[in-house]
Amino acid sequence: MTITMADSQDAGIRPVQFLWLEITGKCQLECGHCYADSGPAGTHGRMRLPDWLRVIDEAARLGVRTVQFIGGEPTLHPDLPDLIPAAKRAGLAIEVFSNLVHITDELWDTFLRCDVGRRPPTTVTIPASTAPSPAGRRIPARAPTS
Ligand code: SF4
Repeated sequence: MTITMADSQDAGIRPVQFLWLEITGKCQLECGHCYADSGPAGTHGRMRLPDWLRVIDEAARLGVRTVQFIGGEPTLHPDLPDLIPAAKRAGLAIEVFSNLVHITDELWDTFLRCDVGRRPPTTVTIPASTAPSPAGRRIPARAPTS
């Protein structure tokens, strides 16, 4: 079954906008404070590339705006260079939560090409009481009553 954003809105559910994808438990480091208990012996788990691609596609259709790839160290996952462009094609803003121990040239190129770390343009809402009119005057919040 595929769930769409319309389904969730019909059900009165506010769409999730931010998604963490914990794509690996592997890391070069073995920090004592690691929340995920990650380390060199960690694995990439059982999810395969098609599974992650489906998650990204469904998340975008459900209204997710931003995906953050986490781990472990997500740059150690061999499919990250495919997952990032997929998220970009799906219209998501992308973040990679990395320890920066080693980023390959291929990944740096992917980060740049897919605007990793850049936020989409923000919509700014200006209250009507302070918004300038086309003529440069301020527009009152509501019409004065006489
Ligand atoms: S994921 Fe982060 S906290 Fe955990 S071992 Fe790696 S660098 Fe340390």
